[in-house]
Amino acid sequence: MKIGLKTLLLPAGEAAVAAAARVLADGGLVAFPTETVYGLGADATNAAAIAHLYQAKGRPAFNPLIAHVSDLGAARKIGRFDAAALQLAEAFWPGPLTLVLPKSADCAVADLATAGLDTVAIRIPAHPVARDILRAFGRPVVAPSANLSGHVSPTIAAHVLNDLGGRIDLIVDGGAVAVGVESTIVGIFDQPILLRPGGLPRADIERVLGLTLRQPPEDAESDSDQPLAPGMLASHYAPRTKVRLNAMRLEPGEALLAFGTDAVSGIEAAAAVMNLSVRGDLDEAAANLFGHLRALDTRAARTIAVMPIPDDGLGEAINDRLRRAAVGRE
Ligand code: AMP
Ligand code: MG
Repeated sequence: MKIGLKTLLLPAGEAAVAAAARVLADGGLVAFPTETVYGLGADATNAAAIAHLYQAKGRPAFNPLIAHVSDLGAARKIGRFDAAALQLAEAFWPGPLTLVLPKSADCAVADLATAGLDTVAIRIPAHPVARDILRAFGRPVVAPSANLSGHVSPTIAAHVLNDLGGRIDLIVDGGAVAVGVESTIVGIFDQPILLRPGGLPRADIERVLGLTLRQPPEDAESDSDQPLAPGMLASHYAPRTKVRLNAMRLEPGEALLAFGTDAVSGIEAAAAVMNLSVRGDLDEAAANLFGHLRALDTRAARTIAVMPIPDDGLGEAINDRLRRAAVGRE
């Protein structure tokens, strides 16, 4: 992993914004202030950069991340906006509102950023430093809180340095941020749904839309009262094809999700083979995980057999997602 990086700390300003855009373009990690907490930014279109982000935070699981953009034009390139989504965007962006929308046909956001889902979470933050960086960089940026997994969210640059010094490339110091709540997350499906309460009150959203936001049903998948499009609310991606873990031999008609170069018997009869990382690199495997799963899922194989993957480093998060995929949607 990339520990032992020299973490540069720059005061917010033109030079810092230019440096941040450069680091992001190179696939690096930049902490910067948003109106809620300091975010840890990575290029949302670069799966390897996002794998490093997970590693730097020490996060044991891959959750879908929010893609931050500078303006509505950029947002419309990655998500499909219907009339309700546009109304909310116009009323509340920039600000503490995240919209979860169907991905656009040519959505450039990496599968690892959306955890393999067909939806994408989008926000235009209001903090001037965050917006300057997004404008300068010109591509969507994922930015979960800039702290080690399990620690509290940072509200000053020194918090970020304590947690992530030596693990990320750059910290842009924009002073103390308001200790705000997280963004409110609204899913725009057939009917808009409040996915997470946050900084923007529900009543404000309902006033603009002229309707009551649905609450996510306790069990989204089995709510037959008002069915949702399948998978819309799923908290994780589950392939349609059955998934079998720790496979060292293949049955006929199975597809193989390989890792490394260990021999797998029966491979000559495989329906398809994709390798997460031939050289056994867990970062590379993380970057490829959702894309490969989705690709194998389209191959009409009987089962996707997955080779054993070590549980260290990002292996823990990879195995967590694979176990969920093997169980199906929860
Ligand atoms: P944070 O960056 O800490 O504010 O967390 C991001 C939140 O957005 C998490 O609660 C995610 O589960 C949620 N989220 C991101 N993308 C999606 C999506 N496509 N569908 C549903 N929830 C999402
Ligand atoms: Mg956090």
